[in-house]
Amino acid sequence: MEIIHSPAAMQRLALDVKRSGKTIGFVPTMGFLHEGHLSLMRLARAQSDVLVVSIFVNPAQFGPNEDLEAYPRDFARDESLCEKEGTDILFYPESRSMYADDASIWVVEESLSAGLCGASRPGHFKGVCTVVAKLFNLVQPDVAVFGEKDAQQLRIIERMVRDLNIPVRILRGPIVREPDGLAMSSRNKYLSPEERVHALCLRRSLDLVSEKAAAGERNVDVLRELIENTIASTNGAEIDYIEFVDDESLRPVSTLHAETLVALAVRIGQTRLIDNRILLLH
Ligand code: AMP
Repeated sequence: MEIIHSPAAMQRLALDVKRSGKTIGFVPTMGFLHEGHLSLMRLARAQSDVLVVSIFVNPAQFGPNEDLEAYPRDFARDESLCEKEGTDILFYPESRSMYADDASIWVVEESLSAGLCGASRPGHFKGVCTVVAKLFNLVQPDVAVFGEKDAQQLRIIERMVRDLNIPVRILRGPIVREPDGLAMSSRNKYLSPEERVHALCLRRSLDLVSEKAAAGERNVDVLRELIENTIASTNGAEIDYIEFVDDESLRPVSTLHAETLVALAVRIGQTRLIDNRILLLH
């Protein structure tokens, strides 16, 4: 496995790989890798000749009061996990090398990013779209894999690729969960043992609405109240948002239909966790 720090060197190598007729599979991450990330690597690996993973805690997608400095990092461990998954190239740039001091061009999505995490984290998706577009230019992937865990991000990246005609195929990786159902996340590391138990309220909420929806409940207000009650009865849990949206437009719906996404962001103590599910109607 080759480790590359310089964006220019990454791009040179990627262009060489492409010229040799090989395909590139790409998994962008912020590091502190877990099984969720590794599952995306396996998907990319199966679809391409050369697997590139990036680790970059992108300052542009963090708000001024967010956890950029505290974000968990462990490069040595990440490196060995990438190696085990058969990564060919690990791109690990420094943030100074990724953004010019006077950078003034940004990629802004203007519809899908209005609600959900976009509403609670202003500027977040501008940072995400910009860095992903830059990474695509540096890594030249044929295929890139993103996790369903970040449902809004995934749909925004798909839209960016469509609207900017970026020649990459986006694959969706299913949410990987701990045995008790907590969605894996680098941020789970922030949770105390008590909070770790409380964090199960997200999964429990989604299970409850899935069951009610499968049993015929279609009224979003009724379903939302179920989640509100579940979160309210959990110590130290505070709702950031509970949204029922059309899976394609991400616009709120008042009645469930065949493609409804329910998405949650909940603070457990200081830690903001997200989870989501597509509701299947029978
Ligand atoms: P992050 O390092 O958190 O920016 O995530 C990098 C990629 O891994 C994104 O495409 C995420 O959606 C994906 N990811 C994070 N957690 C999970 C998970 N539990 N299951 C599947 N994919 C995940």
